[in-house]
Amino acid sequence: MALTGENLIGATRSAEGLRRLRGIDPRTSTTLEPAFAEATSAEVNRAMELADAAFREFRLVPDSRRADLLEAIAGAIRSQGESIVARAASETGLPEARLRGEVGRTTGQLELFAKLVRDGSWVDARIDLGDPSRTPAAKPDVRRMLIALGPVVVFGTSNFPLAFSVAGGDTASALAAGCSVVVKGHPAHPGTSELVAACVLAATKQTNLPDGIFSLLHGSGHEVGVELVNHPLTRAVGFTGSLRGGRALFDAATKRAVPIPVFAEMGSTNPVFILPRALEMQREKLATALHASVTLGVGQFCTNPGVAILPPTEEANEFKRSLSELVRETPAGPMLYEGIGLAFEEGVKRMAAVSGVALLARADGSEQAGTTFGRSAVLTVSAGDYLDHPELGDEVFGPSTLVVDTQSRQDILRLARSLEGHLTATVWAADGEIDEYQDLVDILTDKVGRLIFNGMPTGVEVGPAMHHGGPYPATTDARFTSVGTAAILRFARPIAFQDAPETMLPPHLQDKNPHGIMRLVDGVPSREPVTRQEDAA
Ligand code: NAP
Repeated sequence: MALTGENLIGATRSAEGLRRLRGIDPRTSTTLEPAFAEATSAEVNRAMELADAAFREFRLVPDSRRADLLEAIAGAIRSQGESIVARAASETGLPEARLRGEVGRTTGQLELFAKLVRDGSWVDARIDLGDPSRTPAAKPDVRRMLIALGPVVVFGTSNFPLAFSVAGGDTASALAAGCSVVVKGHPAHPGTSELVAACVLAATKQTNLPDGIFSLLHGSGHEVGVELVNHPLTRAVGFTGSLRGGRALFDAATKRAVPIPVFAEMGSTNPVFILPRALEMQREKLATALHASVTLGVGQFCTNPGVAILPPTEEANEFKRSLSELVRETPAGPMLYEGIGLAFEEGVKRMAAVSGVALLARADGSEQAGTTFGRSAVLTVSAGDYLDHPELGDEVFGPSTLVVDTQSRQDILRLARSLEGHLTATVWAADGEIDEYQDLVDILTDKVGRLIFNGMPTGVEVGPAMHHGGPYPATTDARFTSVGTAAILRFARPIAFQDAPETMLPPHLQDKNPHGIMRLVDGVPSREPVTRQEDAA
């Protein structure tokens, strides 16, 4: 498919404004064709009005048609997989093998949501049957379920150009809930965005659904994003990116005349705690595993382990030596775009300049002098200095980690208590050792969205039980996940119907339970039909 560089407002292509942005190949700094038209205010408005009109229709279509749509999007992306991978590789510098994996993850996610929607039980239907004969007052018949929130604005993400972007988890879960979606594409991969958007629109056509349920707008420099968040027809926002960006959009959303939720997944340093016996018994294995996780994808994962806490044992120095050696030998790799490369360099320098911090090792990258090439780094600091400098807890996005030396068990617990909210924390323990650290586990449980034992935080499984979120500043709402089927809950709200006639109820709440979904009837899970008391009489 040839790229046109236009915005896609439903199926209508539009390029009214004068401002243009272009993709740049970070491996070579080559500017890519074509130029992409940044959306104007009028185009933002048209996309939102179309999304709102389409939503009125889309929210009422049977679950099976929404499932068909999600499967059709997956099919279209799969059939265009190789051209999407080729364009994404040139816009992000990510290896093709990794991008092929992301195609699989993206299509798998869409199909997982299709399955969820086809089953229908996700709406959490609850029925408290009425009792007209109850005294002193009759008990009303109350039925509750989740319904779609309305048009959702999704921000494409730089480090997952497919799985967290145009047809990624936010879009899949919003469409699954019955919301229409307007995507603000990430300016670093506009061509990839257009290719995937074309797949979504082909799928809406194939399944005979209104094309306005999906639009893609381009923009750089905040205006398009801010206008979308402020638009009166926007009902919710999905975002993954920087703390600064996520916080700015959250603040804008709360200042609206009608505030809306912003589900922003932001910075995290994903602390890894290594317990004494684990380090004693598995020192080399741990150094290798930590190095692999820190440098995976040139460190450009929100689950990258940016801080590792060592126990007060003799092995700590050997561990640091091994890790330093591995870091020194790591080839520099292209980062997603120049800004991220520069921010990483600045981040490492800023951290190394903090009092008490020492740079242990830096990968050599002199032959690839471009600022977009990330050179791995490992730094170290004592627990005391770490606690004295809260700025050391800030995320440095890229292949670096800060190793913290402790002098006592109390140091380890103090450090854990000092943490802000994170997506993950990891504990490495030898057999039986974890039982001696229940207090550490209790502290970490309060700080993170996912607690990992004897693993590494990178690599987020997509499934019903996954939670990818965490207390602020990891996200703006610790109650929700952006990965896994529970992500749909962000874009739905409950409604209760009281004493509603059968004909006014959605199928999920009707007496006959036509789709056989799981419901909570008078507090008991059931897929059976229900009988109203007045009917029984
Ligand atoms: P970003 O700067 O937060 O941008 C993400 C999206 O939000 C872009 O579409 C950007 O568009 C928009 N945006 C950012 N700030 C905005 C604002 N104040 N108002 C309106 N829109 C705004 O993220 P990025 O470009 O992916 O990477 C930059 C840094 O973010 C990285 O160096 C890293 O620190 C962090 N990051 C974190 C994660 C994570 O998962 N935790 C992932 C990726 C990046 P415009 O360009 O149009 O403003």
